[in-house]
Amino acid sequence: MKFHIMTLFPEMIEQTLSSSIIGNANSQDLIHIQPVNIRDFSKNKHKKVDDYPYGGGAGMVMQPQPIMDAYRHIQTYTKKNTKVIYLTPQGKPFNQEMAESFAKEEALIFLCGHYEGVDERVIESIVTEEISIGDYILTGGELAVMVMIDCISRLVPGVLGNSDSHDIETFDQGLIEYPQYTRPAEYEGQVVPEVLLSGHHLNIERWRYEQSLIRTAIKRPDLYDKLTLTVSDEAFVKKSLQK
Ligand code: SAM
Repeated sequence: MKFHIMTLFPEMIEQTLSSSIIGNANSQDLIHIQPVNIRDFSKNKHKKVDDYPYGGGAGMVMQPQPIMDAYRHIQTYTKKNTKVIYLTPQGKPFNQEMAESFAKEEALIFLCGHYEGVDERVIESIVTEEISIGDYILTGGELAVMVMIDCISRLVPGVLGNSDSHDIETFDQGLIEYPQYTRPAEYEGQVVPEVLLSGHHLNIERWRYEQSLIRTAIKRPDLYDKLTLTVSDEAFVKKSLQK
């Protein structure tokens, strides 16, 4: 899986994505992260990449020429139909389902904006998806692209070892994950639920499922409302919430 990132700050991406699980995956060639510096493609003698907005207003806008030339450069070694994702607060909110779909691609091209964003003609010409990482404004697209790459990469086969398995995870089947515990069985008077120490796999599975149901109802009622539950599961949650 290859990630080509058009950015004005490649060092931000290189530094952050070079450690931990994603850094290992990159050095083992399971993924390939390639930041491309938009400024390198500026034809301006001062390597300028932005200018004032037509019509007036605050801030600067990223000019089309350096971005389009950076894109054409990436195109020389990627397939013509490679998706181009512009990180923008105006885009579709990123979620796990999207990550799973993007993880099936061979390569993705990202465009990180800065200042007031990029000239609209770039979006019209090359962008295939506009994605937001949440309803708030960042100074640039770099943090957003790193969130996306981290999330997509861990779905690429081989990136996670067994100990970091994503077999059962929050958002699977529309539920959030059950509580997790590790050693010791008692810490400062707080004990691990007995069922987890019982070694009885069916009971553990049932307990975890019930905990997921209760947690989803409490923490994410929006997700809970979308679930299709059996009558007995629904009654169980209702009873647990009344306690
Ligand atoms: N003027 C733009 C607007 O109102 O839509 C916001 C520009 S923002 C200050 C600069 C850049 O940061 C954007 O071009 C985008 O690449 C990135 N960015 C900011 N917030 C983001 C978010 N929530 N998700 C993804 N990218 C974001």
